[in-house]
Amino acid sequence: MLNFDFSHDHELLEQSIREWAGREVAPRIHDLDRAHQFDRGVLPQMASLGLLGICVPVDYGGAGMDYIALGIASEELEYVDTSLRVIMSVHVGLNCLTLVAWGTEDQKQRYLAPQAQGRKIATYALTEPSAGSDARGIQSVAIRKGDRYVLTGEKMWISMGDVADNYLVFAWTDLEKKKQRDPSGMSAFIVERAFKGFSSGTLKEKWGILAGNTGFFKMEEVEVPRENLVGREGEGFKIAMFALDQGRYTVAAGATGLIRACRDASVTYAKARKAFGVEIGSHQLVKEMIAKMESDYQASRLLWLRAGWLKNGGRRNTRETGLAKWFATVASERAAGDAVQIHGANGYSDEYPVGRYYRNCKGAVIYEGTREIHTIMQADYLLGYRTDRPTRCELPAWEGSAS
Ligand SMILES: Cc1cc2nc3c(=O)[nH]c(=O)nc-3n(C[C@H](O)[C@H](O)[C@H](O)COP(=O)(O)OP(=O)(O)OC[C@H]3O[C@@H](n4cnc5c(N)ncnc54)[C@H](O)[C@@H]3O)c2cc1C
Repeated sequence: MLNFDFSHDHELLEQSIREWAGREVAPRIHDLDRAHQFDRGVLPQMASLGLLGICVPVDYGGAGMDYIALGIASEELEYVDTSLRVIMSVHVGLNCLTLVAWGTEDQKQRYLAPQAQGRKIATYALTEPSAGSDARGIQSVAIRKGDRYVLTGEKMWISMGDVADNYLVFAWTDLEKKKQRDPSGMSAFIVERAFKGFSSGTLKEKWGILAGNTGFFKMEEVEVPRENLVGREGEGFKIAMFALDQGRYTVAAGATGLIRACRDASVTYAKARKAFGVEIGSHQLVKEMIAKMESDYQASRLLWLRAGWLKNGGRRNTRETGLAKWFATVASERAAGDAVQIHGANGYSDEYPVGRYYRNCKGAVIYEGTREIHTIMQADYLLGYRTDRPTRCELPAWEGSAS
């Protein structure tokens, strides 16, 4: 039977994140954003709320909550600022959940457990200066030498790239397959910032998510122990795509939170601002923009909830998660544009938050599959050009109790 009510645990989670982010981050976010400052201080606070291992099993140091909880957290965090949700996307969605599904027991003990407790921060590194959507175009290579791999290459546009401790890195292990662009020649590795030959920096010219860190790193003959190979040699591309199913889910729920933030700011402003002798909210064209925000919010929420429900059941959800991410991010761009419009010239100033929403939302229309890549994906499912085959590892069904 369908049930649209959140469980008591979900409501408590929603409330506690709302209170924490509203109290600790919201009053400072304008200044952090203006200063382009990533506040490391939020990480231990998020860890103490259990967010950094929210749906990682308790046996590996996580909070053991379900995947709906991850969606709730993403929505609440992005309601305050996209930079907070990005932490969940890369640390939990793209990295920790990939180790839950694909990691060895040793990797889970050495990397997943400290990450889930927030003692180490992790991210995901696929994109390179010359390859984003075209992931087969990456140039990084990993050459096997005895019990190690030697990694050489450069990664760019990596969220938390200059602040993370651990990186899930993708590189070619088969150079013949690299030439043929055959993705079965790619492998996945856990690389530590502490490894010799690793160096990173922050991208300074970014104009959105300014309170978040986005970076690049170089690997100059970084020696990675064989035990840090995730999955088998040649499974890297599948693992990269698997990780995106989890990251995109957090992006979808986060964009839903951003639409809600646009809606709430617009409603408040539309009742406070007068034009032609009346509140601007009583003008029909303003009403139309606000009503569209509400329908986009509700539709986006239903789409991520459905994807989360599939994840809880251990069912493949690439198509549904992709649809949720595509719809919510495109809708968030529309909502943010309209929120600025409703605020008039004030919307064009950082005195009001809607300009920040407008700058922040655009990234999600680009990362984790651009709008165009998702458009193609959804059409290809319908046209029969794409089907999802089972992979060796999937996200385990959630085993806890939903109440
Ligand atoms: C803020 C931010 C954070 C990011 N964080 C991470 C991260 O943590 N880890 C990581 O690995 N990457 C990250 N990225 C990188 C992101 O995933 C890539 O930017 C994205 O995949 C797009 O790649 P690209 O920028 O190279 O654009 P391109 O792939 O060069 O695309 C340029 C344009 O061409 C279009 N296009 C490309 N191919 C096609 C096609 N076949 N059909 C139609 N149109 C097409 C695209 O839709 C786009 O409009 C981040 C990016 C940003 C902006």
